[in-house]
Amino acid sequence: MKRIGLLGGMSWESSIEYERTINQAVRQRLGGTASADMIIRSYNFAEIEALQAADDWKAAGQLLANDAQMLQNAGAELIVLCTNTMHRVAGAIEAAIDIEFLHLADATAAAVTEAGVDTVALLGTRYTMEQDFYRGRLERHDLSVIVPAEPDLTTVHDVIYDELVRGVVSADSRTAYLGIIDRLVDRGARGVIAGCTEIELLITPADIEVAYFPTAHLHAMAAVEAALS
Ligand code: GLU
Repeated sequence: MKRIGLLGGMSWESSIEYERTINQAVRQRLGGTASADMIIRSYNFAEIEALQAADDWKAAGQLLANDAQMLQNAGAELIVLCTNTMHRVAGAIEAAIDIEFLHLADATAAAVTEAGVDTVALLGTRYTMEQDFYRGRLERHDLSVIVPAEPDLTTVHDVIYDELVRGVVSADSRTAYLGIIDRLVDRGARGVIAGCTEIELLITPADIEVAYFPTAHLHAMAAVEAALS
């Protein structure tokens, strides 16, 4: 079993679910008392959020790249970055390490394609929904990607930063998200990507009628696959 290096804490509300999912899947696969071999770097999310708000992706990239290197030096054999948004700096991380970097958009695109969905809605932070690093990467997997129009786009973003990363899961926000998903389905979406690792804490597959792609879960399962292959 390969040792997994997790870049987490962005926020810990979701990276703790990565740990749980990875450990449970390893136990299921190997049985007995087996659990995953992991090294975790968990950030103070306030510092990461400040870099995002300042548009200082260069500093954020340097920080994450240095820590990915630290995990590699400590024996990690693959790197899992537990946030969609920070894949904005995936290039800097990949350039700093020699071990595998498991890109979240690729793991997600594989699941969407396998489900036979070609037009998919993307929910996430404003950065993820609007910028090419994530949306464009999905499109390069031949997926047609729809994002919410305003004011829905801002609602999706604000619920993440004002509530979900702070541990607040509210019924009102669930209702708001479900309305937004309905409008995306009306525009042709045949599936929904929870493209922020906290969204699956708010919306579960049972809440919606179309296919659902919870990225933290999919990424964690891809990590297990890579670690055990
Ligand atoms: N965890 C989130 C994501 O998957 C948002 C928090 C962040 O900006 O890293 O995008």
